[in-house]
Amino acid sequence: MPDSGVWRDLWRVVQTQFPDAKLTSSYRSGSITSTGNLSWHARGNAIDISGPNMTGYFEWIKTNYGGQTAELIYTPAGNRQVKDGREHRFTGGTIAADHFDHVHWAMQSSPGAPSGGPTTPGTSSGNPLSDALAAITNPSTWVRVGAFLAAALVLFLVFAKIGKG
Ligand SMILES: [Zn+2]
Repeated sequence: MPDSGVWRDLWRVVQTQFPDAKLTSSYRSGSITSTGNLSWHARGNAIDISGPNMTGYFEWIKTNYGGQTAELIYTPAGNRQVKDGREHRFTGGTIAADHFDHVHWAMQSSPGAPSGGPTTPGTSSGNPLSDALAAITNPSTWVRVGAFLAAALVLFLVFAKIGKG
């Protein structure tokens, strides 16, 4: 089974959100699970992540991508793990025993931007302060500010003239 490359996009979103996360496995040609099925790793659609905040990685992935996730396996999360977009507790083979030291995440296709994570420039971040800062550094804002100041100056001059008359 060739490498779909989806794992690169899974890893990219995790790494962007959690610089301390470590990629411990990705594409494994011919990989079979402990229950005898073809692993998502064998298609290049899964990553294994370890690091100092595995509960945090698990929760963030579930919050942002749970509904589109094929498998999100981390045994300490119990019946809050995810299979085919639904909560699930993984049993059978050595699957539970194998997933204490890493978070396994698989998706059918590449993830989009996280719903609660970084946004592309020019769109709202959901944070009023950073939106205000973005507006201030946006050149078109200064065009509007300039037009407003010019209008205020004209009004001031008009009133100044009326005052003198
Ligand atoms: Zn895995």
